[in-house]
Amino acid sequence: MYNRTNYMPEFMARKQICDIGKRMYNRGYVAANDGNISVRIGRDTILCTPTGVSKGFMTPDMLVKLNMKGERRSGTRKASSEIKMHLRVYKENPEVMAVTHAHPPIATSFAIAGIELDKALLPEAVVMLGTVPIAPYATPGTEEVPESIAPYCKDHNAVLLANHGALTWGSDLIEAYYRMESLEHYAAIMMYTSNIIGKSNELSCGQVERLIEIRKNLGITSGGKPVCSIEEKNKGPFISSSSMNQESMTQEKEVLLRSIAEKVTATVLNSNR
Ligand SMILES: [Zn+2]
Repeated sequence: MYNRTNYMPEFMARKQICDIGKRMYNRGYVAANDGNISVRIGRDTILCTPTGVSKGFMTPDMLVKLNMKGERRSGTRKASSEIKMHLRVYKENPEVMAVTHAHPPIATSFAIAGIELDKALLPEAVVMLGTVPIAPYATPGTEEVPESIAPYCKDHNAVLLANHGALTWGSDLIEAYYRMESLEHYAAIMMYTSNIIGKSNELSCGQVERLIEIRKNLGITSGGKPVCSIEEKNKGPFISSSSMNQESMTQEKEVLLRSIAEKVTATVLNSNR
């Protein structure tokens, strides 16, 4: 862990950004030249990825050094306009030492659908990632983008960007990146349970409380609290209120209505004979 008086040495940060870029690209979290990564290496300095370069093929010399106003301090390449989001996270939350931005396909699909990742499904996600709200859509490259994420930087560890992608942060680059992995993994599980299997036994409120306690003991104070609706005594097989389940409820209703209609029709026909 690196804090404000103990920043990661620049040569290490350069190497780690390239390693994480490769992971992000190899896992399909970014296509072509998408995504960006930054690490805070001083009170007024961040190191970040350049624009127009695949994050899977970077070398340490390609990275750009900026001050906290976004002015270039070294490097021949330009930083992406999306770095404004990173700078805003650092400004809003001084504990943050690294930020990652990507377009992981499943989490981005939830961002497009406007569905927050706030269900209590997996203990690890509750502890390490927390709930993931959606920041309203903002035109890329404009000041609207950092404005849209500002309210979430202190109390959460990640945010979905409506019709765009995901942004995660942490006390070092590994933590920020792992949150991106956890976010996509959680989104995949949510898609399977809600939209493919159509059923999920969510964690009870008591179970969520115990996980929040564990999180506190680990020194993690951010992440929000997932929605829970099941009391301990009612714990057990539970049909979630996901769209798929609403759909199956609708189907059940349709079957019932059809059978009532058939009975009524048969009665009318019989009475006319
Ligand atoms: Zn993006």
